[in-house]
Amino acid sequence: MADERHSGDHPFRFPQDADRDFPHGGARSTPNGGPGVSGRARRRSGIRAEHIITMSGRHFLQIPGPTNVPERILRAMDRTVVDHRGAELPPVVFEIVEGLRGTFQSRDGAIALFPASGTGATEAAVVNTLNPGDRALAFNNGAFSHAFAEVARRFSVDVDEVDLPWDRGVPPDLIRDRLAADADHTYRALLVVHNETSTGATTDLAAVRRAMDAAGHPAFLIVDAVSSLASLDFRFDEWAVDVALAGSQKGLMLPPGLGIVCIGARALRRAEDVTTPRAFFDWRPVLKEMERGYFPFTPATLLLYGLREALRMLSEEGLPQVITRHRRLAEAVRAAVRAWERPVQCREPAEYSNTLTAVVVPEGADSDAVRRVAETHFNLSLGAGLGRLAGKVFRIGHLGSLNELEVLATLAGTELAMTVAGIQVPVGAGVAAAQRVLLEHVGT
Ligand code: PLP
Repeated sequence: MADERHSGDHPFRFPQDADRDFPHGGARSTPNGGPGVSGRARRRSGIRAEHIITMSGRHFLQIPGPTNVPERILRAMDRTVVDHRGAELPPVVFEIVEGLRGTFQSRDGAIALFPASGTGATEAAVVNTLNPGDRALAFNNGAFSHAFAEVARRFSVDVDEVDLPWDRGVPPDLIRDRLAADADHTYRALLVVHNETSTGATTDLAAVRRAMDAAGHPAFLIVDAVSSLASLDFRFDEWAVDVALAGSQKGLMLPPGLGIVCIGARALRRAEDVTTPRAFFDWRPVLKEMERGYFPFTPATLLLYGLREALRMLSEEGLPQVITRHRRLAEAVRAAVRAWERPVQCREPAEYSNTLTAVVVPEGADSDAVRRVAETHFNLSLGAGLGRLAGKVFRIGHLGSLNELEVLATLAGTELAMTVAGIQVPVGAGVAAAQRVLLEHVGT
């Protein structure tokens, strides 16, 4: 158990809680202020009124989700709310289901949507497949993988949470050995986060599937794809994933508010037998209604229009091109970090995340100071260090709707912010290094 890593009275803290602790304990402020920011909150957070009032141009939301919402999606959502039991909704829902299947790379995966964040989708995955007392194998290689284990524990699942360093993905060999040692097949499920958003390390799911097969273990493979779907290669069918869960606010380029689950045949059958109490997150009525294009509750109607548009955009660009773009932009960001002579939190190059990079600040420096300067002076939001990485790393999100020039501007802003925050970096070197990487790719 990793409780001691998280301060506070509560037995555990979700990573989101860590994010809520704005540096200096001040209230979280919007970068461009606005009526919600009290003078006291502003003073406590270090934001000066003149910055809030005079910031013009667009805000650079370069946290690893929520990501920037493209104009096209904003326009698709800018419409009157339809009757969710009327004739307009079913074609939208049917198109979404097909589009999401393509994004998960699944032919027949059942898609369930909940008006919830990614954590809701996590809960849906757990309560529909696991009984109280079932054993699950999980890994603590970052704040979100720990939170995944905790959600299962909340429903009395007996979780074996393997403590790992927070600087790499889950080693497939470890999975093979743990499962091979479980000769009686007592583990009902393996809980894996594909892309650990707190550290910027990706787990090789193809290798995880091979490890499970090598051990001949029938455990369900339940995968958190929150910060990988629609950005990294995700192969639901090929990797024989049983349940994959995601949210709307990352690679899908939408505001937060949709929890998404893709369910395989085995998990669908399992949900019929599970006795865990469930109501809102029972996926059976959702699937039944979605077959007719409806929901058993009031859906997040406008987000559905946004999701349809997002899926159209992904299809126009082409999923392989989307994945390649994320790789190209990530390489540019990593080149910049190398030029700054700062380490990235992930120590295994083969596992570098192509959706975010966690940059380690020097001993004695405070990564939240960099974020604060970036936000207040340059209208740029960078991700906080979460859990045990609080103050030690800041995270650059490079996923979703993003292009070369936006990445370069983000890097330029980050260099400025580090410099103002007192971290010595050769100003311009990161941007130049990223430009060189991007130049290599022109025309490819
Ligand atoms: N899992 C991962 C990998 C995440 O990155 C996040 C959020 O960033 C979550 C789960 C939780 O999702 P949400 O904050 O939408 O509930």
